[in-house]
Amino acid sequence: MPEIAVLPGDGIGREIIPEAVAVVQAVAPDKFTWREYLVGGAAIDATGSPLPPETLAACLAADAVLLGAVGGPQWDTLPPARRPELGALLPLRKQLELYANIRPVRVQKALVGASTLKAEVVEKVDLVVMRELTGGLYFGEKGRRTAPRAAYDTLIYTEDEIRRIVRLAFLWARERRRRVCSVDKANILESSRFWREIAEDEGRNFPDVELTHMYVDNAAMQLVRRPEQFDVIVTENMFGDILTDLASMLSGSIGMLPSASLNGKKGLYEPAHGSAPDIAGRNLANPLAAILSAAMMLKYSFDLTAESARIEKAVADVLAAGWRPADLAGPGDRVLGTRELGAKVREAL
Ligand code: NAD
Repeated sequence: MPEIAVLPGDGIGREIIPEAVAVVQAVAPDKFTWREYLVGGAAIDATGSPLPPETLAACLAADAVLLGAVGGPQWDTLPPARRPELGALLPLRKQLELYANIRPVRVQKALVGASTLKAEVVEKVDLVVMRELTGGLYFGEKGRRTAPRAAYDTLIYTEDEIRRIVRLAFLWARERRRRVCSVDKANILESSRFWREIAEDEGRNFPDVELTHMYVDNAAMQLVRRPEQFDVIVTENMFGDILTDLASMLSGSIGMLPSASLNGKKGLYEPAHGSAPDIAGRNLANPLAAILSAAMMLKYSFDLTAESARIEKAVADVLAAGWRPADLAGPGDRVLGTRELGAKVREAL
């Protein structure tokens, strides 16, 4: 039986992941072995390490990983390498070689009015941001200098790192509207000019897919100006980090946005948001991003396309019936807590 390593992590991760697991168990009973492991602050408190060797070994051995979120103010004063994000998330991505982070942004019909942007701007949005996840500024050489005091990070990309993510973007575009927009800062950065060269070269293998390029500053502007123009956006690590949070607001709330991090063989699935310490432990968190991440897991790791679609439809039906998580509630909406909304999705399956 395929094994799923479950890493709830910290804060609301511990509330939303049980709901996602329960939804998968309802739609695909007895199909998986589930094992839970410590990560992030919870792992620091229990073992001293944000990514205990047992957790890493389990993730390497499992068929897929379902992750909540890590971090919280109580761990922010630790040395950087022992903090939940730097000490757990980055090494996990690197060790599993999860080079492609994929975040689909679609606006649920029922939530068109919930975005901070006008309904006519967001109603046709159906895009995917594909972010390079194991290279660039977040992994390049970094350090401090004295006299004068300074700090630096290095943005470096190899040809192979660029080629494999751009190729994946073309393959995804083929299953969609056949348009790839590669986002860079080629007017300033040498690494971006190189990225553009490799993207062009790889594009020659996909003559049926349109390739365009856009500077990241313009892309940020276009994402709020006319987001429906995008099909697949592919970009480097830091630009993707920022653009995906921006794009999340098109869907109404970051609590709606799922993500998959893939390496061609294995996937790690997690909501796009963090551990939300401000609302943790109060049954207020929106579990839908986690539930939709689990739906992505069924599709991309286990080829359970019908089961995945059933979950997506159940989420859409619950929202269409007027039920809302607290972060999306407007006046007159029927608001449900984390557990109750998870149960409602299971009922709708
Ligand atoms: P965050 O995403 O946790 O929260 C930002 C805001 O969105 C908060 O107001 C929060 O209440 C709200 N929010 C987020 N998810 C929600 C949900 N499912 N339902 C309802 N509201 C939701 O980002 P942050 O505040 O910048 O970071 C909090 C902690 O999370 C920090 O320790 C940070 O390092 C960590 N973090 C972890 C990840 C990850 O594990 N992948 C990602 C980002 C931040």
